[in-house]
Amino acid sequence: MHREDFQKGLKGKRVVVVGMARTGMVAAEFLSKMGADVIVTEMKAADELGTSPDRLRSLGVEVELGGHSPQTFLRRDLIVISPGVDPSIPPLEEARLNGIPVVSEIEFASWYLCPPLIAVTGTNGKSTTTSLIGHILSHGGKKVFVGGNIGTPLTEYLLQEREEVDYIVAEISSFHLEAIWYFRPWIALLLNLDEDHLDRHPTFSSYAEAKGRIFLNQGSKDWSVVNIDDATIRILIPETKAQLLPFGRERGGERGIWLGNEGVITYRGEGDEERFSLERLKIIGMHNAENIMAAVGAAKICGIPREVIQESLESFPGLEHRLESVGEWKGIHVYNDSKATNVASTLKALMSLKKPIILLAGGRDKGGDYYPLRGVIKERVKALILIGEAKEKMNEALGDLVPTYLVKGMEEGVHAAWDMARDGDVVLLSPACASFDMFQDFRERGITFKEIVLGLARKQG
Ligand code: ADP
Repeated sequence: MHREDFQKGLKGKRVVVVGMARTGMVAAEFLSKMGADVIVTEMKAADELGTSPDRLRSLGVEVELGGHSPQTFLRRDLIVISPGVDPSIPPLEEARLNGIPVVSEIEFASWYLCPPLIAVTGTNGKSTTTSLIGHILSHGGKKVFVGGNIGTPLTEYLLQEREEVDYIVAEISSFHLEAIWYFRPWIALLLNLDEDHLDRHPTFSSYAEAKGRIFLNQGSKDWSVVNIDDATIRILIPETKAQLLPFGRERGGERGIWLGNEGVITYRGEGDEERFSLERLKIIGMHNAENIMAAVGAAKICGIPREVIQESLESFPGLEHRLESVGEWKGIHVYNDSKATNVASTLKALMSLKKPIILLAGGRDKGGDYYPLRGVIKERVKALILIGEAKEKMNEALGDLVPTYLVKGMEEGVHAAWDMARDGDVVLLSPACASFDMFQDFRERGITFKEIVLGLARKQG
């Protein structure tokens, strides 16, 4: 596949967009505006979709709902897939066998983007780090577009004829990375690699390999900012041809970004050294210290002064549903960590908060192993309340450690936690599971949790 064929112009090109959530809609609109002959295909039926296809149809885009018919993928010049679409589904494999290029939306968008691209990937912390980098750069007077998986698709930047920005900061998922060809970030950040999405990636190594692809096209003028404490990432490092900027726990004198024991981060560059204090920050936990180191690395490469970075770290409010403080009532502190959709992120939450913790967990199982939670649950958790499809499996893995209650759903779970909480306890929703068994997404799960908590607090007066 030669991207030049598409960069020259899209007029008359026959393109399929797979998936009709926000990214697919925007990609289809952009393609159609550029004169391509576009068809969008979506597994969901019309009544299951949150959006109406009318607007796309009015632009002359053909819309296929309720499944992908095999003909849709044939006799096409290009297939663009949305981030939620598994690149290995049979019709896409078939199309590849027929010589039709299959690319992810970030790959496609990158063909037309001019500003330098800062791309963030990893198992956890992508959204937090992406928005923190955006926050620091904007604070430093740079014009920034923040997008990708975090919300606004990159194609939307192209569509909206925005004023030119200094940097594009994008959150990138592993599915995105599986279908890249030329995608080349100027700065690639790889935060961590833990078990996740084993329901969709056949093995951990295939998942790790997909994440490592972020370095695939980088050259010697680019940068790779990597978590050197992560054993899997260390294996992937030789893949990059870019300049390496590692981060992790302090290791004497090397270039990189290092966390010292005293809650200070040191950036050590070519002959210069800067220090950043983690006091007075609104985000907590060792995992956020890692996200901060990565963001400081990107900010330093972009030439942002020390004082601006320090101020931005202090003013960064954190994101909703990520270890978010809901409030404190009668000495009981409640946190919403609905975005913790895997074991690694729940582990970090449990380690970041003071104990004793009443943990509300469960949801849709993603094929991972809950045993890594045993140590921290034994040490810090006072009671475990389990909800959702995974509750039996979690109970088998963890239920012998502390008093464990299997309940019907969120309402019953929050009531149970509220009733047993005492002064000094923490109540934490950190599911270690996906939300789709009971909710539309992690946002709806977090909002539901907060509403029930706030309702109980009001009743209590
Ligand atoms: P992502 O976009 O990768 O899902 P988020 O920033 O949205 O990451 O955070 C997702 C979950 O992971 C939250 O529960 C958050 O508290 C936790 N988390 C954030 N950063 C890290 C990290 N570096 N390591 C492990 N867990 C993290």
